[in-house]
Amino acid sequence: MSTSKTSNPLAKARIAVLGYGSQGRAHALNLRDSGLDVVVGLRPNGPTWHQALADGLRVMEPAEAVKGADLVAVLTPDMVQPTLYKESIEPNIKPGAALLFAHGFNVHFGQIVPRADIDVILVAPKGPGALVRSEYERGRGVPCIWAVQQDVSGEAEAKTRGYADGIGGGRAMIIKTDFKEETETDLFGEQAVLCGGASELVIAGFETLVEAGYQPEIAYYEVMHELKLIVDLFYEGGLTKMLQFVSETAQYGDYVSGPRVIDAGVKARMKDVLRDIQDGTFARNWTAEYRAGLPNYKKLKQADLEHPIEQVGARLRAQMPWLHTAAPAATPLKKVG
Ligand code: NDP
Ligand code: MG
Repeated sequence: MSTSKTSNPLAKARIAVLGYGSQGRAHALNLRDSGLDVVVGLRPNGPTWHQALADGLRVMEPAEAVKGADLVAVLTPDMVQPTLYKESIEPNIKPGAALLFAHGFNVHFGQIVPRADIDVILVAPKGPGALVRSEYERGRGVPCIWAVQQDVSGEAEAKTRGYADGIGGGRAMIIKTDFKEETETDLFGEQAVLCGGASELVIAGFETLVEAGYQPEIAYYEVMHELKLIVDLFYEGGLTKMLQFVSETAQYGDYVSGPRVIDAGVKARMKDVLRDIQDGTFARNWTAEYRAGLPNYKKLKQADLEHPIEQVGARLRAQMPWLHTAAPAATPLKKVG
């Protein structure tokens, strides 16, 4: 699957990476170290402008970076991409060039309607930028998913493969998807299971114990702190490894009580959430909320931040110094806004 430097279809291409955050920095550095020609497009003198310069990259304003580029990777936060596209990309991108995304939200939900004379492709590493970079430096790579939405050059697929190889994904595994599948499954995962589902599960468990008269400190350890042990086991070896490492008592409780908590009603409501994603309701609401200045978002976020689990948690975490010396937390899910 992997392509060597010389046979990479992008070997002679100029690649403009717009954005130098979690993904942008990792992509730009890996592409450069794969021998490809990279320029970074950023707002002048923003915080990451200086970082990109310090990393030895060529940095220019987005419109300048786009001019002359054969591939433009859009790696800014999703909600700023439509304006960036209108102002800096659309008037400047060369006919036949490729426009690359790491998340399909804007294209799939019509927030960006790419010009008809360019390729539109997607390469999304299945990991945070820091891991995409550190694995590359170790000579390995993070698996990527890829998709082609629009192919005018006849080389769109080769370009996605070349890009995935250049950031290290080709050393691991690349999986074909499409913009619809990537966008809808990504939103569903973060809403129903990862961010939304997991946090509500933890909060409900915490409240159940505290309302029953147990100490909040004990409840915190049981339902939030120890979640990491379980998630790490899932990550490394799925349900099989988790079941190997927990006691028989915990396993039996899992089998008989898990389905009482997460029952058919939960799954039915997951399907409702998925339907709102698929029919565009979520994207419409979120875009309107963003344009209105995030009134509900701010209110709901404040409520989470003020929940008693956060107060007891802050106190307890202050007594666990190893939490503060660990590597910076990965942020694989910071995708929308
Ligand atoms: P970040 O939030 O880390 O991007 C920040 C970068 O975008 C900074 O360089 C910032 O520059 C720049 N930026 C912000 N606003 C603008 C603007 N108006 N014009 C130009 N540059 C701007 O983004 P992520 O790396 O998290 O996400 C990038 C894309 O990758 C998204 O589509 C996301 O969905 C996707 N993705 C992200 C993953 C992740 O691990 N985070 C995983 C897979 C996909 P400045 O210094 O000027 O503020
Ligand atoms: Mg919540």
